[in-house]
Amino acid sequence: MSNCIFCKIVAKQIPSSVVYEDDEFLAFKDIHPAAPVHFLIIPKQHVETLSDTSTEHMSMLGKMLALAPRLAKEQGCGLSRDADGQVSGGYKTLINTGPDGGQEVYHLHMHVIGGPQPWRGQR
Ligand code: 5GP
Ligand code: ZN
Repeated sequence: MSNCIFCKIVAKQIPSSVVYEDDEFLAFKDIHPAAPVHFLIIPKQHVETLSDTSTEHMSMLGKMLALAPRLAKEQGCGLSRDADGQVSGGYKTLINTGPDGGQEVYHLHMHVIGGPQPWRGQR
């Protein structure tokens, strides 16, 4: 999509702070971070919203979700368990869909937002 800002980021026509890239996906830091760790995982293929996916996208959606914990760990907000099994760390994963879902950029993306419950302050 020639007019899509995230397609332009994929094409490196617009700079971004890339945290991960492979043939199918790009992950980059959100320009307006809501927390110490805030990056977006996007498929390189232009799909407008989660509601525009179908069974043909199942593999892509699964891989995108599976990237979240891996990249969260690399970015310093992964989940940890101590010897007693106590969990700490963690992050929020979020896909906004459509106007009522708060979607601003119409290229499917998953937010990964990490920190000590960074969204609590927004309530
Ligand atoms: P949405 O509301 O669509 O789920 O989220 C879009 C996100 O993309 C927002 O958090 C916004 O800060 C981010 N964003 C919009 N334009 C750019 C850009 O040009 N570069 C980067 N890195 N992030 C962007
Ligand atoms: Zn796009």
